[in-house]
Amino acid sequence: MSSAGFSPLGELALARGTVDRMTKRRTDKDWIEAAWKDRRSRVLAVDQGHALVREDADRVELIFVSPEEAPSGTRFLLGQDEDGVVYFGVSGPLPGGQEAYELGIRKATLREVGALLPDRDAGLLTHAVALANWHDTHTHCPLCGSATFPDPAGHSTFCPVDGSEHFPRTDPAVIMLVTDPQDRCLLARNAAWPGRRVSILAGFVEPGESAEQAVIREVAEETGITVINVRYLGSQPWPMPRSLMLGFRADAPAGQDIAVDHEELAEAQWFSREDLLAALNSRELALPPRVSIARHIIEAWYGGPLPSAWTGPPPPPR
Ligand SMILES: [Zn+2]
Repeated sequence: MSSAGFSPLGELALARGTVDRMTKRRTDKDWIEAAWKDRRSRVLAVDQGHALVREDADRVELIFVSPEEAPSGTRFLLGQDEDGVVYFGVSGPLPGGQEAYELGIRKATLREVGALLPDRDAGLLTHAVALANWHDTHTHCPLCGSATFPDPAGHSTFCPVDGSEHFPRTDPAVIMLVTDPQDRCLLARNAAWPGRRVSILAGFVEPGESAEQAVIREVAEETGITVINVRYLGSQPWPMPRSLMLGFRADAPAGQDIAVDHEELAEAQWFSREDLLAALNSRELALPPRVSIARHIIEAWYGGPLPSAWTGPPPPPR
């Protein structure tokens, strides 16, 4: 189910996917075991956020293996496509191990290839990375400290000592484009980012807080700017390791001065469309990559594509 048509941001790279998640089969042990024995089933190995991809001149695609070729590791059901093919993920070593890969085959992260993969593969890799990250970091019961065991579909774990059940975590984060009465956009450079990278403001939603409250609080904390008229734009998962990015716009009433929180930001300033384009063209500034929701929100405000890319990985939300 592609996100095109659902969001004013257009199609977001990590909010794509065509495979039915088959949630009703997650408790059906027999169905899952039969699917694992089916040679048509495809398995995607994920190791520390990396999967294998095949890359040629005009496309990038995931490399799957059959269940019998799959590495050992925690297994999880990703879903089933229209042709009845079932997809699993495994958090474990990538196929091929230490061997050199053939030409065109390489390890890649979601950040690197998320915007390049076709819809099916983008959805599967996003889902698999999110579950693999959770399994890799949630191995013990938070109540009693015993080792937990995954259910047959790998979408929950249970504690054999106290019987408690545990589900994957997703941490909501807000990311927001703020404009002033001249429709200039507030861009900031994080203190931890090298060089000339700027983006819009972002931060985690705190316990007991709405997303809109988080937008207002984060903008005020980081830049001293009070915003009103907070409105939702769209979302995409960002499972590095477990965020859901909620995109917003907000308005800054006139007559305010920026007061940067230097713990968080190196600088923040208002940009008109002309100023931003000039700074990007002169390579004085760079924007986040196309895989990010930030890039889509900035380009939606600008009114079209902008000429910029980060070459390194984008930062995690603060
Ligand atoms: Zn327990």
